[in-house]
Amino acid sequence: MNIEKYDEIRASLPAGVRLVAVSKFKPAEDIAALYQHGQRVFGENHAQEMKSKHEILPQDIEWHFIGHLQTNKIKYIAPYVALIHSIDSFNLLKEVNKQAVKNNRVIPCLLQFHIADEETKFGFSLEECEEMLQSPDFQELKNVKIHGVMGMATFTDDHGQVRREFHHLHDIFETLKFRYFSQNPDFKELSMGMTDDYPIAIEEGSTLIRIGSAIFGPRNYQT
Ligand SMILES: *Cc1c(COP(=O)(O)O)cnc(C)c1O
Repeated sequence: MNIEKYDEIRASLPAGVRLVAVSKFKPAEDIAALYQHGQRVFGENHAQEMKSKHEILPQDIEWHFIGHLQTNKIKYIAPYVALIHSIDSFNLLKEVNKQAVKNNRVIPCLLQFHIADEETKFGFSLEECEEMLQSPDFQELKNVKIHGVMGMATFTDDHGQVRREFHHLHDIFETLKFRYFSQNPDFKELSMGMTDDYPIAIEEGSTLIRIGSAIFGPRNYQT
């Protein structure tokens, strides 16, 4: 683990930008060490892995789910998850709402958009998302609350392209805020930026950067 790099990133963050330490595939000891150092927000992308870490680590950790979420796995995170970044379909949002009802809580969620030039990244298009937001069924979901949007840029050295994609996500954020969430002060999060592109994401208005390998070192299994 690279505590100096962590401190450097923390020190460089403008006011209003929070760091999600992405601890996927890393042992609980690494999370505990960073917790000791003051970090409270951690991101995971496998539901069962998050559950087992949640059970043994301090209870005031804010767990953020950042990966593709299968509906049959929601139950492993619903009792405690602080923010789901990766709502990529209406069906998933409905299922999260059901589990939130069972746990008698409201689960904060971000809507994930497909902004990259790659087939493999999940997410809504603006059109699909607006269709959902306009549907009466959406209004019935009382146990989820939309706090903003999330996206991943293309994996490329072309910084211009990355910047355009983040800029596009910011435009989507503003459009949705204006059309659907102007009365909702919780709609304020723009989750974008990872180890290789977070400085650009911050310049383009990110409020939540999700950093894994810069802090914890390379992973054995990337997803
Ligand atoms: C793994 C992952 C990250 C962190 O990636 P790094 O390049 O290691 O910083 C951020 N966001 C998502 C959605 C991820 O899956």
